Amino acid sequence: MMPYVFFGLCLILAILGISLLNKIQRLKELREKVAALNFSLEEMDEQAKLIMRTDMELNKAQEELDKKISGLDILQKLSREISTTLEEKQIFKKINNQYVEELGFEKSLAFLWKSLEREFQLYLCIGYSQDESLKIKAAVSANKDYFLDLIKSGATASSEFVPPGALSKIKINQIFLVHSFIICPVLAQEGDQGFIFVGTQNIESSTTKGDLEFISILANQIGQTLDNARLFEKTWRSQQELELKVEERTRQLTGALEEVKKISKRKSDFISSVSHEIRTPLTSVKGYAAILLSSKLGALPDEVRVRLEKINRHSDELVHMVNDLLDISRIESGKVEIKKEPLSLRAIAEKISDLFAEQFKTKNIAFSSNIPDDCREILADRSQIERVFMNLVGNALKFTPQNGKIDIGASRLNNVIQINIKDTGFGIPEDAQEAIFEEFYRVDNTINQEVKGTGLGLTLVKHIIEAHQGKIWVKSKVGEGSTFSFTLNAA
Ligand code: ADP
Repeated sequence: MMPYVFFGLCLILAILGISLLNKIQRLKELREKVAALNFSLEEMDEQAKLIMRTDMELNKAQEELDKKISGLDILQKLSREISTTLEEKQIFKKINNQYVEELGFEKSLAFLWKSLEREFQLYLCIGYSQDESLKIKAAVSANKDYFLDLIKSGATASSEFVPPGALSKIKINQIFLVHSFIICPVLAQEGDQGFIFVGTQNIESSTTKGDLEFISILANQIGQTLDNARLFEKTWRSQQELELKVEERTRQLTGALEEVKKISKRKSDFISSVSHEIRTPLTSVKGYAAILLSSKLGALPDEVRVRLEKINRHSDELVHMVNDLLDISRIESGKVEIKKEPLSLRAIAEKISDLFAEQFKTKNIAFSSNIPDDCREILADRSQIERVFMNLVGNALKFTPQNGKIDIGASRLNNVIQINIKDTGFGIPEDAQEAIFEEFYRVDNTINQEVKGTGLGLTLVKHIIEAHQGKIWVKSKVGEGSTFSFTLNAA
């Protein structure tokens, strides 16, 4: 019996042992699984933390982005308002507390350094009482070197970074009564410069890099607008000065013109009355000379006759001159009526040719006229225009040496006919080409010492042409000849 019991016990023990071993094995496996589970749980936890961190960062970035977008929007609006302002004080008035608040601040100040007064002046004050602003201004003045250095170096100061100098971040906070701040210099090219300050008392919000960028842009914009405003002011001032000068000058010129007119009228009146006075005795001198020359009062010795003929000739010249003078003053004062009628230019040229035929022959001058069909008829006062031709052709004859050429030509542009009287004479120096139309002007040369004249012919011609609403000018080269041109209306 005993061996069976023993065997049975051994069997039971063996079964129990195997089962124990199995359990231990399972336990080991379970432990391993738990460890693996724990590991993956930790991993998941890490990942969850990472996701949360990323989410927070994303939110922050989104917030920053939103802030930037709205900041840019505000800046754009503000810039638009500022940039259209052309008055220094008005520029700062555009920055109101709404804009400042939208940018995330409740306090703002702007100071400009007035170099003449040598002090900082307050141009903008938002978020401070008057008392506070006075205290801040006093503190800024007391630390003016620090702020001037900041402006000079173009550096910014903010809660994040304050450039080394007399004022620390805490001191600046105390001066401006804020928790965080930004100070940016306002740099204008010309004139007074300064700085803009923004700040907040809010302990939770502190200034960011983005804020600093915005305020720097704003300060730049203010600087540029200050430049524009000053340039405008300068331009406006010089324009005003110019206008005043022009007004003053115009007044002086009008006065001078009136004076010239008065003098000119007095001169014309004088010439006219003197000419009249001279003409009467001159006519009797000429009359007596003519009577004597006619030998009605007895025969004249040759010597007396020669002298009387001289008196007669010189009297003629004088009468001619007096008549010219009288005509000039009459035309000048508008007393001569210009009776315009259609006239044949070819007929006038022919008449002139006949009139001077003898002189042309004597000097062997080839005279020609070339009037195209479209210039056949002019609208002018017959006797006055004939005087013009006589004077101009007469001068051409006087100032052209033997064997020369004189030509009358014409051309037409629309309703205006240009007549050219061309000679191959001595010519007129360039600096005298305008003066020859003035009264009594004669070119100072050897020819004029030989050729007689009064210097009145061209003045009379110019007056007649202008009375016809035409123009007269000369083109000439010494030694080659001259071309006198004038314009008249076509008939
Ligand atoms: P005058 O002939 O009596 O001197 P004008 O007024 O007719 O006076 O002319 C003024 C001056 O212009 C003349 O003295 C002369 O010097 C110059 N002049 C005029 N016509 C001519 C010409 N065709 N050629 C050269 N010089 C001329």
